[in-house]
Amino acid sequence: MNIDPPLALLAEITHRCPMRCLYCSNPVNLEPASRELDTATWLRVLDEAADLGVYQVHFSGGEPTARKDLGELVQHAAELDLYTNLITSGVLLESEDLFRLADAGLEHVQLSFQDTDAAGGDRIGGLKDAHRRKLEVAGWVVDAGMAFTVNAVIHRHNAGRVGEMIELAVELGAGRLEVASVQYYGWGLKNRAYLMPTEQQLDAVTEIVEAARDRLAGVLTIDYVIPDYYARRPKACMGGWGRRFVNIDPSGRVLPCHAATTIPGLTFDTVQDHALEHIWQHSDAFNRFRGTEWMPEPCASCDFREVDWGGCRCQAMALTGDAAQTDPVCSLSPLHESVRALAEREAGAGTETAVYRGAKKESVLRDLS
Ligand code: SF4
Ligand code: SF4
Repeated sequence: MNIDPPLALLAEITHRCPMRCLYCSNPVNLEPASRELDTATWLRVLDEAADLGVYQVHFSGGEPTARKDLGELVQHAAELDLYTNLITSGVLLESEDLFRLADAGLEHVQLSFQDTDAAGGDRIGGLKDAHRRKLEVAGWVVDAGMAFTVNAVIHRHNAGRVGEMIELAVELGAGRLEVASVQYYGWGLKNRAYLMPTEQQLDAVTEIVEAARDRLAGVLTIDYVIPDYYARRPKACMGGWGRRFVNIDPSGRVLPCHAATTIPGLTFDTVQDHALEHIWQHSDAFNRFRGTEWMPEPCASCDFREVDWGGCRCQAMALTGDAAQTDPVCSLSPLHESVRALAEREAGAGTETAVYRGAKKESVLRDLS
């Protein structure tokens, strides 16, 4: 079988990041700097991605600007006619870095904001002064003339400020705003009880986003991702396993999605051992849940099986202990009601305790209200 090429490469060039977002979806066990791919390997991987037919490269992490060779990688990708996007917290950037990246060919920046309230944002991100620095970076992105998206992750502690977040994105000059509910992987899963919004909060956010979409048509495009646990149908995670995206982690493992290492029993090939095209076509990890043949009931005979591709494998793993189950956020799954009840229970309990990632040990944040 010949598989269509992926649309995009998610290049996780480092797991290093000065922030410690309580919802970070990176693996709980991060790859250290000593295991990161070197520049020459990344340049070769970009060549292989272009040959494979990849159209876009998203430089991400961790914090991708922690790598000193980011400009070189961006320039190489641009020379290969790949569309280049930087997904960043912004906190390590100086203005000259950003203008150098623009000169190197960077076309698009996605800048994350944790909140509109500086204290709340710095608390969720675990880094003092982060919010102020992000506001500065936003101005430089606009001055450099790059396409600009604000990424806003919504949870129980900032859902009430989604209207302000929309206004902030307009004020900053963004063309697009991603209002994304926390995805419960990595640290997000660890801190789920702290982050889970109530259904009433979710309904209010949905109403505000829908009204703003009408009001701001032509000014700001708003993408909106509701929390899976309250959904009736799962998301088509990664556009379907092994269909649209290829993810390379800092150590060179090639993954169908960035949380795929949470699934036991999958074998991940590396770019050190194989060409990207070979991995895309033949890797065990990509073929394990590709298409529809792996699906159990109710997915196997469902009309939506080529729409959502059975939902998210990592979420099925996290919630059922079996990655080959129907994503239990689907209302057709026998486990759907228990997932919804779990969300309501955790949101209703209102825990104020959360855990930060730490270099040596985790630290606990209490009584945040
Ligand atoms: S979510 Fe926060 S901690 Fe995780 S990589 Fe992004 S900025 Fe860093
Ligand atoms: S049963 Fe499977 S294919 Fe059908 S809607 Fe649910 S997750 Fe999607």
